[in-house]
Parts: sequence; structure tokens; C-alpha cells
Amino acid sequence: MPSYLFKNGYAKELQIGKIICLARTYKKHAEEMQSALPREPIVFLKPSSSVIFDGDSILFPLESSSLHHEVEFGVVIGKKCSKIIKKFALEYVLGYLVGLDITARDIQATAKKHGWPWTVSKGFDSFCPISEVVLKKNILNPNNVDFSLKVNDEVKQKANTNMMVFSIEQLIEYISRIMTLEPGDLILTGTPEGVGEIRKGDILKVELSGYCNLQVDVKETKN
Ligand code: MG
Repeated sequence: MPSYLFKNGYAKELQIGKIICLARTYKKHAEEMQSALPREPIVFLKPSSSVIFDGDSILFPLESSSLHHEVEFGVVIGKKCSKIIKKFALEYVLGYLVGLDITARDIQATAKKHGWPWTVSKGFDSFCPISEVVLKKNILNPNNVDFSLKVNDEVKQKANTNMMVFSIEQLIEYISRIMTLEPGDLILTGTPEGVGEIRKGDILKVELSGYCNLQVDVKETKN
């Protein structure tokens, strides 16, 4: 199981549990994908085996010829909860991070066409690079945080969580009505506009402005 050490204040091993991802939570990204904005959050899961950390490499799978970056704000659950109302949602949060929902866009396009799940396009090993966890007390308002992604030092995605269609509290309320959230579970809250191709040799630098950074590169998968 993936684990990671906090850098902020104390060291503790964190087991990442299930990864709950949101789609189309930013209006301009929905537009660039020619998708309609949903009334309720669109939810899918990524396997915890896809997690990698700062300094690791995204492995380009042989099954795809089109990988896209999607930078996303992440919420790490600290206390088990179920059917939480939004007023109390943040009480169950351990902290926040910034991550990448790497997507095999060609495989996803085929899945969308046939109405198949997105699991394959989102679930390869190394498809979920994440930063360290910034403890909740250090981010007083998770609905107003800047984050960005540079590929080879060029800014490709830049946004604030206040541009999301749903608040963090609304997302936790919605998801916890469906599934019990447990310590270590990670919610990736969806990507803003500017998604695009990554290629072998690219360097991806991700920033949760003022809080933490993450750097990964892209390598070919070896048989
Ligand atoms: Mg995404």
C-alpha cells in the first residue's frame, strides 16, 4: 500500500485508501471537453495502487498513445464518516494536497463512446502523483486556494478552488451519502481547464500556492 510521510510539523505514515475523483467540477474544463455541467457531482474511483510521490515517474503505458495531465486539489479524510451534512464536513478532513489525475485520453474516449467505465483510462500504475499532505489547520478556507501545473516550466493549468461548481463541503456531503469515508481516503476534486498531452521526458511541476510542491517526470514503461 502506498504511504507517505507528512513534512508539516510531524512525521506519520499515511495509508492512502480509496481515491474518489470528481469530473466536470470546473465550467471551463467541461466546455473544453464539450461536456455539459452536471447538476450533481460525477464520481469515479481510481485505485490506490496508482499513487506515486514527489520525485517519482509517470509511466507511459503501452496500451495508450495519449496521456493527459489533470491537476487537481485533493482532500484527505482524517476521521471515518458517513452521511455527513455539509455544515460539519470539514470536521472529518485531515488535510489537503495537490495531485494529478493522469488520464489515458484515447482509452477514455473509446470508453465514453461505448458507455464503458473510465477505470482503465484512469487506473494504470503511476497515474496518481500526489504531494505531501498540508494539515487542515494550515489552510483555513479550502474553497479559496490557488494551484497550478507547469510542464517543462511552461504554465499549463492555473486555477483557484473558488472556481469550482461545488464547494468542498458539498462534495464531502454528496460522496458520504454514497460511501463511508475512512481515514486516508483521498478526494480529487476535478480539474480546471488547460488539460493537455504529456510526453516521455516531460517534467511536471505542481504547486499548491504557498503550501507545497510536487515534481514528477514521464518515462516509458519497460516490458
Ligand atoms: Mg480529473
